[in-house]
Amino acid sequence: MAPLRSEFRNADAERRFQLHHLADTQAQLRIAFLFCSVFYLGFAVTDVMWMGYTAHSALLVGARLLVVIIALTSLLLLRRFPRSLAMTRIVATVTEVAACAGFLLIAAWRSSEFSLHAISMAILIVVLYIYIPNRLMYALAVAVTATIGFVLLARLLGSMREVELATMATLLVLANVFGYVAARRYQVLWRDEFRAQTVLKNLSVRDPLTGCYNRRHLHEQLLETELSRAQRYRLSLTVIMCDLDHFKNVNDSFGHDGGDAVLLAFAGLMQAMTRDSIDSVVRYGGEEFLLILPETDLRGGVQLAERLRQALASNPVPHGERMIRATASFGVASIDFAEPESLTAQQTMIATADKLLYAAKEGGRNQVCALQLP
Ligand code: GH3
Ligand code: MG
Ligand code: MG
Repeated sequence: MAPLRSEFRNADAERRFQLHHLADTQAQLRIAFLFCSVFYLGFAVTDVMWMGYTAHSALLVGARLLVVIIALTSLLLLRRFPRSLAMTRIVATVTEVAACAGFLLIAAWRSSEFSLHAISMAILIVVLYIYIPNRLMYALAVAVTATIGFVLLARLLGSMREVELATMATLLVLANVFGYVAARRYQVLWRDEFRAQTVLKNLSVRDPLTGCYNRRHLHEQLLETELSRAQRYRLSLTVIMCDLDHFKNVNDSFGHDGGDAVLLAFAGLMQAMTRDSIDSVVRYGGEEFLLILPETDLRGGVQLAERLRQALASNPVPHGERMIRATASFGVASIDFAEPESLTAQQTMIATADKLLYAAKEGGRNQVCALQLP
């Protein structure tokens, strides 16, 4: 994690974290905006008590109303774009800036009360860092700018003595430091929790030796998700079942370590030759793997299987001083949901690919057998 901004250094990981937290962030924003709106409006009473019903007090109430309108518009935008990370950041930052600008304006107009305003400023700082969820760097920028603006206004318009002003400024710096440290703890804690969850999830869905998905994940989620997506959008779906040939002999000749090296190399090939975050590689059994290829027709599936077959057969796997030659057989089954009568179950696809794999074995191994499902 980057220490100052308290975010993951890896932009992709940070984005996944933000998306994971989005619903919570928006819920917190909604509460914060409503709460702040009520308080901003509530304090209009003190403007009128201070200045009476004058044009001046009307202007102040107008400024408060403007802040409230911006906060309520933010609520509407959040409702309109519930999945947008960018919109969530924009409304948080714009509302923070509006709240600070409104507050400074009010302080400037009621300039004889700066020591009271300092209490409000300290509360505002805490709200900016902790209560309104935003990127830590944005909250820091808004809070520090508002604090500097406030102290300058107090110096220019207020009637505080130098020593009072210095004390107030120091206390506000302290409020910033405590606010930042507390916000940073939250940011780190949430990311630690997310990281632990991701690690546990990975452990539960992946095979420890090869890093491929495990069979439980295949049956619990993967295949079901891809099949229903292909059905909904009327797309093709192809699965490839493959199995290393005479793998017992590899273990017998090179030991279990040698066998594991071949498994790792083959899994690495499959992961490298398939599309990231689209295709899935599953370790189906000991030396048997299943590839799930969304939006891929039979021809594409056969091409991939053929490229994998050739890559494995022509690249012996290094194991210590020796090289291990290995081959694999492939069964490719494809279904096209653009055809209106296409209907298939998970079991049918896997069973068909399995039969084709055994046809490839019987045909002499190191080959690809394929079939288009009706
Ligand atoms: P075929 O060409 O018919 O597939 O022959 P085969 O010898 O590959 O077939 P079989 O399925 O009978 O043997 C699979 C072997 O794979 C048996 C098992 O010891 C080995 N195996 C399974 N899992 C692992 C593993 O994680 N590491 C290693 N090194 N070997 C494994
Ligand atoms: Mg085998
Ligand atoms: Mg086998």
